[in-house]
Amino acid sequence: MKNIIIFGAPGSGKGTYSEAIVNRYGMGHISTGDVLRAEIKNGTELGKIAQGYIDNGQLIPDELMIDILASTYDRQPQGKGVIFDGFPRTIAQAEALKKMLLERGHGLGMMIELIVGEDVLMERLLRRAQIEGRADDNEETIRKRFAVYHSQTAPLSEWFAAEGIRHTFDWSICKTKEGMIEAIFQEIDKENQ
Ligand code: AMP
Repeated sequence: MKNIIIFGAPGSGKGTYSEAIVNRYGMGHISTGDVLRAEIKNGTELGKIAQGYIDNGQLIPDELMIDILASTYDRQPQGKGVIFDGFPRTIAQAEALKKMLLERGHGLGMMIELIVGEDVLMERLLRRAQIEGRADDNEETIRKRFAVYHSQTAPLSEWFAAEGIRHTFDWSICKTKEGMIEAIFQEIDKENQ
């Protein structure tokens, strides 16, 4: 299996579709948000540093994220491919990921971009706040995360397009979670023929 990078704004469904992909293809899964939340829960040094950034809707500095990513990647089962969920979020992270994979004789694989309008995103995130109680899912922090997404992360879409690995899936076309999943699976199957 090729590696997969799942990409999209906060609330676009990266976690949901990653889970569906992992269940179907048995790949490894790295969610950098989940890694950071676990560090915070365990009260580690890294968790203490990460908390301030997360609560403010800011990105954790690249050098720190890149180190975390490499060590998490090396703990994944070999040979099945890995889905990167929430990484990379900056051009520097994307360059570092490409280099890290190349050093291991692996490739970026394919990038899946989830396109969802901001009104739908906000509604979903506020609903998630009620269900999961994530501290950074309040309206003020969500607005900051959108701003960070637009300024630092969204430009990466073109970086992936230039690498020739971008595959986009638009919520307004697929309309349902099931429709999105079906379209994504078809594309993954095509890429891995
Ligand atoms: P997520 O669960 O992917 O929405 O991530 C939650 C928060 O963790 C983000 O708002 C960032 O503060 C931080 N975070 C997760 N992944 C990264 C990353 N690749 N680079 C920098 N910060 C990150």
